[in-house]
Order: sequence, then structure tokens, then C-alpha cells
Amino acid sequence: MALNDLVMDHEISIRLGFFFGTFILIALWEIVAPKRALTVSKAVRWLNNLGIVVLNTIILRLLFPAAAVGVAAFAASQGWGLLNYYELPFIVSIVLSVIAMDLIIYLQHVLVHAVPSLWRLHRVHHADLDYDVTTGARFHPIEIILSMLIKFATIVVLGPPVVAVVIFEVILNAMAMFNHGNINLPKGLDRVLRWLVVTPDMHRVHHSVEDNEANSNYGFNLSIWDRLFGTYIDQPRAGHQGMTIGIHKYRDPKQVDQLPGMLLLPFKGEVTGYAINRREWSNPSGQGGES
Ligand SMILES: [Zn+2]
Ligand SMILES: [Zn+2]
Repeated sequence: MALNDLVMDHEISIRLGFFFGTFILIALWEIVAPKRALTVSKAVRWLNNLGIVVLNTIILRLLFPAAAVGVAAFAASQGWGLLNYYELPFIVSIVLSVIAMDLIIYLQHVLVHAVPSLWRLHRVHHADLDYDVTTGARFHPIEIILSMLIKFATIVVLGPPVVAVVIFEVILNAMAMFNHGNINLPKGLDRVLRWLVVTPDMHRVHHSVEDNEANSNYGFNLSIWDRLFGTYIDQPRAGHQGMTIGIHKYRDPKQVDQLPGMLLLPFKGEVTGYAINRREWSNPSGQGGES
């Protein structure tokens, strides 16, 4: 398929183009009209959040030089995956693949909140004391490696066209920056967009210190999964200006917004069992203890 070859040949420039284009757009929007005042210096957070992005990019390239696109091309050459069993029009395969991969990302996000050891990794994303375009990319390297392995498994089972994998990764990247943006969409526009995609106001609820709010709105791209699986919360109780971002237990900027602290964060705290993630968000004396 010519389109597959074209995308494979220009994969890096397509990715970088969309990454920097979206990043610059949202970053400028945040500077011109921020939604909330930041609590930690933007320079410190950006340096460290982008530092972990650079580290993750290097680790992924070293561990998986062929990346998801390489796995998709290999699966296609072997005829592996569900979609390779059907003679679907190319465009239908692409749309189905993007939707299916988005569902898997949603389920993976629910999983990393529910399983205590995975939550330890994912808490690095939630511990950011502020919420902006760089929050969307800060994940612990081990979570990034796990995500990549889940993506490989998804590709082998699904058999998506190579183009669909690139489209999905580019959309996910751009949407993560958009919906973590510290930006103010007009209420009416937010309401309309929300019927289809995750907006900044919708995902901000997920970064609340309140445990029921942090355990909601898991979607990254399509908003339908949260509505369908009953994990949707419309607005934060304290409002977007009044809500507290982050995790109750970890609020020292040195620990949560500087690279060495962020990398060590999964290994902090006692191992107390299933309810550990609930205890971190809510008041330790409240419900959700580990009895
Ligand atoms: Zn989360
Ligand atoms: Zn997030």
C-alpha cells in the first residue's frame, strides 16, 4: 500500500511536526489566556516535565527501535490480527483500528488506577501540582515501557494498518497536550466538543485530589468510553478554580516536580494493599482505608 510506505518513510517528521505544532499552539494559548494560576514556577515544571519526555523518548528508541509501526508492519506481513481476516475497505480498517486502540488505552488507564503497583507508576502523572500542556506527557519510564508492550500486544491481536497506528499515535499525542491544556474553552464549545472528545475541563476533573474525581474521566481521546462504562463526572465539586490538583500525600514540589523525585516516586510509601490509591487521594482519616 503506497500510503503505508509514504507514512513509514516520513514517520519521524510527521510525528515531530504534529508534536511541535500542537505544543506551540497550546503553550501560547496558556500564556495568553491561562485557565488557572500555576502554583509552581513554569520554568521549573517545564524543564523537569520535558526532561522526563526526553528521557522516555531515548529509552523507547533504545529498547524498541522498530516501535509500534514496526510491529504493525511485521504483523501485516505475517497476516496476523483480526482485521487481516476480513476484506474491509482501507478507510474502514483505519477508523475501526483507531477506535479499538482508543478503547484499549481507556481500559489500560482504568487498570493502572486499580492495581496498586501500577498506580505507583501512574501516580507520577497525577502528582504534578499544576495542570498544563507538559503534564500530558509526564509519565514514569516504566509506565511508558508497559504502555508500549500493551500497544504491541494490541497490534498483534488487532492487525491494524500501519497508517492507523501512526494516525492513532499522532492523535493521542496531540489530544494529550490539548486536554491537559491550562486553557479556557468557551462553555458552549466545551459542551459540544465533549459529546465526541475529551476536553481540558473534562480531563482536569481526573487530576483532582478528590478520590472519586480522580477515579473518573479516564478517556484520552473519545469521551464515549467514560459515559458508556459509567466513569464520567461532569465537573469538579469545588469548581475548576477551587479544585486542588495532584495527590494529597505528595505535595512537596521538590519531590513531585523535579526529575529525581519524579523518578523515585513509585518507590515511596509503604505497601498497604488494594486501597492504597484511595488513601493517597482522600483524607487519610476518611473512608477508603485498607481495612
Ligand atoms: Zn490517571
Ligand atoms: Zn492526565
